[in-house]
Amino acid sequence: MPKAVKPWKPESRTALVRRARKINRELAEVYPYAHPELDFENPFQLLVATVLSAQTTDLRVNQTTPALFARFPVPEDLAAANPEEVEEILRPCGFFRAKTRSVIGLSKALVEDFRGEVPGKLEELVKLPGVGRKTAFVVLGNAFGRPGITVDTHFQRLVRRWKWTEETEPDKIEAAVGSLFPKSAWTDLSHHVIWHGRRICHARRPACGACPIAPLCPAYGEGETDPEKAKKLLKYEKGGFPGQRLKPPQAYLDAGGRPAPPLGVA
Ligand code: SF4
Repeated sequence: MPKAVKPWKPESRTALVRRARKINRELAEVYPYAHPELDFENPFQLLVATVLSAQTTDLRVNQTTPALFARFPVPEDLAAANPEEVEEILRPCGFFRAKTRSVIGLSKALVEDFRGEVPGKLEELVKLPGVGRKTAFVVLGNAFGRPGITVDTHFQRLVRRWKWTEETEPDKIEAAVGSLFPKSAWTDLSHHVIWHGRRICHARRPACGACPIAPLCPAYGEGETDPEKAKKLLKYEKGGFPGQRLKPPQAYLDAGGRPAPPLGVA
Protein backbone atom coordinates (compact mmCIF):
# COMPACT_ATOMS: atom_id res chain seq x y z
CA MET A 1 0.00 0.00 0.00
CA PRO A 2 1.47 3.43 -0.87
CA LYS A 3 2.68 5.51 2.03
CA ALA A 4 0.16 8.34 2.15
CA VAL A 5 0.16 11.62 4.02
CA LYS A 6 -2.76 11.20 6.38
CA PRO A 7 -4.43 12.86 8.16
CA TRP A 8 -3.88 15.96 6.08
CA LYS A 9 -2.72 19.07 7.89
CA PRO A 10 -3.15 22.67 6.73
CA GLU A 11 -0.02 23.83 4.93
CA SER A 12 1.66 27.14 4.20
CA ARG A 13 1.51 28.73 0.79
CA THR A 14 5.17 27.82 0.25
CA ALA A 15 4.53 24.20 1.16
CA LEU A 16 1.52 24.13 -1.17
CA VAL A 17 3.56 25.49 -4.07
CA ARG A 18 6.29 22.90 -3.42
CA ARG A 19 3.82 20.04 -3.17
CA ALA A 20 1.92 21.13 -6.28
CA ARG A 21 5.13 21.32 -8.31
CA LYS A 22 6.27 17.97 -6.97
CA ILE A 23 2.99 16.38 -8.05
CA ASN A 24 3.46 17.85 -11.51
CA ARG A 25 7.05 16.57 -11.70
CA GLU A 26 6.01 13.08 -10.64
CA LEU A 27 3.14 13.02 -13.12
CA ALA A 28 5.59 14.10 -15.84
CA GLU A 29 7.54 10.93 -15.08
CA VAL A 30 4.44 8.76 -15.13
CA TYR A 31 3.15 10.31 -18.38
CA PRO A 32 6.26 11.52 -20.23
CA TYR A 33 4.33 11.30 -23.49
CA ALA A 34 1.21 13.18 -22.26
CA HIS A 35 -0.38 15.08 -25.13
CA PRO A 36 -3.76 16.43 -26.19
CA GLU A 37 -5.94 13.40 -26.82
CA LEU A 38 -7.79 14.83 -29.80
CA ASP A 39 -6.38 14.02 -33.23
CA PHE A 40 -5.70 17.17 -35.25
CA GLU A 41 -3.43 18.42 -38.01
CA ASN A 42 -4.07 22.17 -37.80
CA PRO A 43 -5.74 24.75 -35.53
CA PHE A 44 -9.08 24.49 -37.37
CA GLN A 45 -9.27 20.74 -36.82
CA LEU A 46 -8.38 21.11 -33.14
CA LEU A 47 -10.96 23.85 -32.65
CA VAL A 48 -13.73 21.77 -34.24
CA ALA A 49 -12.67 18.58 -32.44
CA THR A 50 -12.67 20.40 -29.09
CA VAL A 51 -16.19 21.70 -29.69
CA LEU A 52 -17.31 18.18 -30.65
CA SER A 53 -15.78 16.68 -27.50
CA ALA A 54 -18.50 18.08 -25.22
CA GLN A 55 -20.43 15.25 -23.54
CA THR A 56 -18.46 12.49 -25.24
CA THR A 57 -15.02 10.89 -25.19
CA ASP A 58 -12.05 12.12 -27.17
CA LEU A 59 -11.89 8.62 -28.67
CA ARG A 60 -15.37 8.98 -30.15
CA VAL A 61 -14.46 12.39 -31.56
CA ASN A 62 -11.24 10.99 -33.04
CA GLN A 63 -13.21 8.20 -34.67
CA THR A 64 -15.63 10.73 -36.19
CA THR A 65 -13.45 13.60 -37.39
CA PRO A 66 -11.54 11.78 -40.18
CA ALA A 67 -14.76 11.58 -42.24
CA LEU A 68 -15.68 15.17 -41.38
CA PHE A 69 -12.33 16.67 -42.39
CA ALA A 70 -12.04 14.51 -45.49
CA ARG A 71 -15.35 15.93 -46.71
CA PHE A 72 -14.92 19.49 -45.32
CA PRO A 73 -11.20 20.22 -45.00
CA VAL A 74 -11.33 24.01 -44.46
CA PRO A 75 -13.71 26.45 -42.72
CA GLU A 76 -15.11 27.65 -46.07
CA ASP A 77 -16.29 24.08 -46.83
CA LEU A 78 -17.94 23.55 -43.46
CA ALA A 79 -19.51 27.04 -43.48
CA ALA A 80 -21.28 26.19 -46.74
CA ALA A 81 -22.12 22.58 -45.81
CA ASN A 82 -25.54 21.00 -46.01
CA PRO A 83 -26.44 20.53 -42.31
CA GLU A 84 -28.06 17.16 -42.95
CA GLU A 85 -24.86 15.79 -44.40
CA VAL A 86 -22.86 17.05 -41.43
CA GLU A 87 -25.42 15.61 -39.00
CA GLU A 88 -25.00 12.17 -40.55
CA ILE A 89 -21.24 12.33 -40.12
CA LEU A 90 -21.45 13.64 -36.55
CA ARG A 91 -24.13 11.22 -35.38
CA PRO A 92 -21.65 8.98 -33.45
CA CYS A 93 -20.59 11.99 -31.32
CA GLY A 94 -24.03 12.42 -29.73
CA PHE A 95 -26.00 15.69 -29.66
CA PHE A 96 -25.24 15.69 -33.36
CA ARG A 97 -27.83 18.29 -34.37
CA ALA A 98 -26.59 20.86 -31.85
CA LYS A 99 -22.97 20.03 -32.68
CA THR A 100 -23.69 20.43 -36.39
CA ARG A 101 -25.12 23.88 -35.72
CA SER A 102 -22.08 24.74 -33.60
CA VAL A 103 -19.39 23.72 -36.07
CA ILE A 104 -21.16 25.28 -39.06
CA GLY A 105 -21.73 28.52 -37.06
CA LEU A 106 -18.14 28.49 -35.92
CA SER A 107 -16.87 28.01 -39.47
CA LYS A 108 -19.08 30.84 -40.75
CA ALA A 109 -17.66 33.17 -38.09
CA LEU A 110 -14.11 32.14 -39.03
CA VAL A 111 -14.81 32.90 -42.68
CA GLU A 112 -16.67 36.16 -42.07
CA ASP A 113 -14.59 37.63 -39.26
CA PHE A 114 -11.14 36.03 -39.54
CA ARG A 115 -10.66 35.34 -43.27
CA GLY A 116 -10.99 31.62 -42.67
CA GLU A 117 -8.08 31.47 -40.20
CA VAL A 118 -8.30 30.42 -36.56
CA PRO A 119 -7.12 33.42 -34.52
CA GLY A 120 -4.23 32.83 -32.16
CA LYS A 121 -5.38 35.18 -29.40
CA LEU A 122 -7.57 34.39 -26.42
CA GLU A 123 -9.71 37.52 -26.74
CA GLU A 124 -10.49 36.70 -30.37
CA LEU A 125 -11.05 32.99 -29.89
CA VAL A 126 -13.66 33.53 -27.18
CA LYS A 127 -15.63 35.76 -29.56
CA LEU A 128 -16.32 32.75 -31.77
CA PRO A 129 -19.73 31.15 -31.18
CA GLY A 130 -19.58 28.24 -28.75
CA VAL A 131 -15.94 28.87 -27.79
CA GLY A 132 -15.25 29.49 -24.09
CA ARG A 133 -11.97 29.89 -22.27
CA LYS A 134 -11.46 26.13 -21.89
CA THR A 135 -11.71 25.49 -25.63
CA ALA A 136 -9.64 28.59 -26.37
CA PHE A 137 -6.82 27.43 -24.07
CA VAL A 138 -6.82 23.96 -25.62
CA VAL A 139 -6.32 25.55 -29.03
CA LEU A 140 -3.79 28.15 -27.86
CA GLY A 141 -1.74 25.65 -25.89
CA ASN A 142 -1.66 22.87 -28.43
CA ALA A 143 -2.00 24.46 -31.85
CA PHE A 144 -0.22 27.76 -31.19
CA GLY A 145 2.24 26.82 -28.45
CA ARG A 146 0.90 29.53 -26.10
CA PRO A 147 0.69 28.49 -22.44
CA GLY A 148 -2.78 27.77 -21.18
CA ILE A 149 -4.54 25.90 -18.37
CA THR A 150 -7.39 23.66 -19.45
CA VAL A 151 -9.94 23.48 -16.67
CA ASP A 152 -12.06 20.52 -17.73
CA THR A 153 -14.00 18.18 -15.46
CA HIS A 154 -10.90 16.07 -14.61
CA PHE A 155 -8.83 19.12 -13.82
CA GLN A 156 -11.50 20.54 -11.53
CA ARG A 157 -11.91 17.27 -9.64
CA LEU A 158 -8.20 16.56 -9.18
CA VAL A 159 -7.05 20.01 -8.09
CA ARG A 160 -9.76 20.02 -5.46
CA ARG A 161 -8.75 16.55 -4.27
CA TRP A 162 -5.18 17.81 -4.02
CA LYS A 163 -6.33 20.93 -2.15
CA TRP A 164 -4.60 23.19 -4.65
CA THR A 165 -7.67 25.41 -4.47
CA GLU A 166 -11.16 25.46 -3.01
CA GLU A 167 -12.53 27.52 -5.88
CA THR A 168 -15.39 25.99 -7.83
CA GLU A 169 -15.70 28.27 -10.86
CA PRO A 170 -13.43 27.38 -13.80
CA ASP A 171 -12.05 30.91 -14.24
CA LYS A 172 -11.13 31.13 -10.56
CA ILE A 173 -9.63 27.63 -10.56
CA GLU A 174 -7.56 28.62 -13.57
CA ALA A 175 -6.23 31.71 -11.80
CA ALA A 176 -5.58 29.93 -8.50
CA VAL A 177 -3.73 26.99 -10.06
CA GLY A 178 -1.92 29.22 -12.52
CA SER A 179 -0.43 31.15 -9.60
CA LEU A 180 1.25 27.97 -8.29
CA PHE A 181 3.27 27.37 -11.47
CA PRO A 182 5.36 29.31 -13.94
CA LYS A 183 3.40 30.15 -17.06
CA SER A 184 5.69 28.00 -19.20
CA ALA A 185 4.48 24.91 -17.29
CA TRP A 186 0.75 25.48 -17.79
CA THR A 187 0.08 23.47 -20.96
CA ASP A 188 2.03 20.38 -19.87
CA LEU A 189 0.53 20.63 -16.39
CA SER A 190 -2.94 20.51 -17.95
CA HIS A 191 -2.04 17.36 -19.87
CA HIS A 192 -0.56 15.65 -16.81
CA VAL A 193 -3.58 16.39 -14.63
CA ILE A 194 -6.12 15.37 -17.28
CA TRP A 195 -4.20 12.19 -18.09
CA HIS A 196 -4.09 11.26 -14.42
CA GLY A 197 -7.82 11.93 -14.09
CA ARG A 198 -8.61 9.71 -17.05
CA ARG A 199 -6.32 6.84 -16.15
CA ILE A 200 -6.01 6.63 -12.37
CA CYS A 201 -7.83 9.31 -10.35
CA HIS A 202 -11.33 8.63 -11.68
CA ALA A 203 -14.44 10.48 -10.56
CA ARG A 204 -16.20 7.51 -8.96
CA ARG A 205 -13.50 5.05 -7.97
CA PRO A 206 -10.03 6.57 -7.96
CA ALA A 207 -7.36 3.85 -7.99
CA CYS A 208 -5.54 5.14 -4.89
CA GLY A 209 -3.75 1.84 -4.26
CA ALA A 210 -2.06 2.10 -7.68
CA CYS A 211 -1.46 5.83 -7.60
CA PRO A 212 2.14 7.06 -7.86
CA ILE A 213 1.40 10.36 -6.12
CA ALA A 214 -0.55 8.90 -3.18
CA PRO A 215 1.97 10.22 -0.60
CA LEU A 216 1.34 13.75 -1.85
CA CYS A 217 -2.44 13.48 -1.97
CA PRO A 218 -4.78 14.70 0.77
CA ALA A 219 -7.59 12.61 -0.74
CA TYR A 220 -5.74 9.28 -0.60
CA GLY A 221 -8.27 6.68 0.53
CA GLU A 222 -11.21 8.27 -1.28
CA GLY A 223 -10.94 5.39 -3.71
CA GLU A 224 -9.74 1.78 -3.75
CA THR A 225 -6.58 1.37 -1.64
CA ASP A 226 -5.98 -2.36 -2.16
CA PRO A 227 -3.16 -2.45 -4.76
CA GLU A 228 -4.47 -5.48 -6.65
CA LYS A 229 -8.05 -4.21 -6.82
CA ALA A 230 -6.81 -0.70 -7.67
CA LYS A 231 -4.74 -2.02 -10.61
CA LYS A 232 -7.90 -3.41 -12.17
CA LEU A 233 -9.42 0.09 -12.20
CA LEU A 234 -6.68 1.60 -14.37
CA LYS A 235 -7.82 2.81 -17.77
CA TYR A 236 -6.33 3.26 -21.22
CA GLU A 237 -2.71 2.21 -21.61
CA LYS A 238 -2.20 1.96 -17.84
CA GLY A 239 -4.89 -0.69 -17.84
CA GLY A 240 -3.45 -2.39 -20.93
CA PHE A 241 -5.72 -0.74 -23.51
CA PRO A 242 -4.96 1.71 -26.31
CA GLY A 243 -5.12 5.45 -25.69
CA GLN A 244 -7.72 7.67 -27.33
CA ARG A 245 -5.93 8.88 -30.45
CA LEU A 246 -5.98 7.10 -33.77
CA LYS A 247 -2.83 9.03 -34.67
CA PRO A 248 -0.87 9.54 -31.44
CA PRO A 249 2.45 11.37 -31.36
CA GLN A 250 5.59 9.33 -32.01
CA ALA A 251 6.78 9.69 -28.39
CA TYR A 252 3.68 7.82 -27.26
CA LEU A 253 4.23 5.01 -29.76
CA ASP A 254 7.92 4.84 -28.80
CA ALA A 255 6.88 4.36 -25.17
CA GLY A 256 4.73 1.35 -26.14
CA GLY A 257 1.41 3.17 -26.53
CA ARG A 258 -0.99 1.84 -29.12
CA PRO A 259 -3.24 3.83 -31.49
CA ALA A 260 -6.98 3.60 -30.87
CA PRO A 261 -9.05 1.72 -33.47
CA PRO A 262 -11.19 3.46 -36.11
CA LEU A 263 -14.97 3.65 -35.74
CA GLY A 264 -16.64 0.26 -35.80
CA VAL A 265 -13.48 -1.75 -35.05
CA ALA A 266 -13.38 -3.31 -31.58
S1 SF4 B 1 -6.00 8.22 -7.09
FE1 SF4 B 1 -6.34 8.58 -4.91
S2 SF4 B 1 -4.28 9.00 -4.12
FE2 SF4 B 1 -4.17 9.26 -6.34
S3 SF4 B 1 -4.52 11.39 -6.72
FE3 SF4 B 1 -6.50 10.39 -6.84
S4 SF4 B 1 -7.43 10.52 -4.80
FE4 SF4 B 1 -5.23 10.98 -4.64
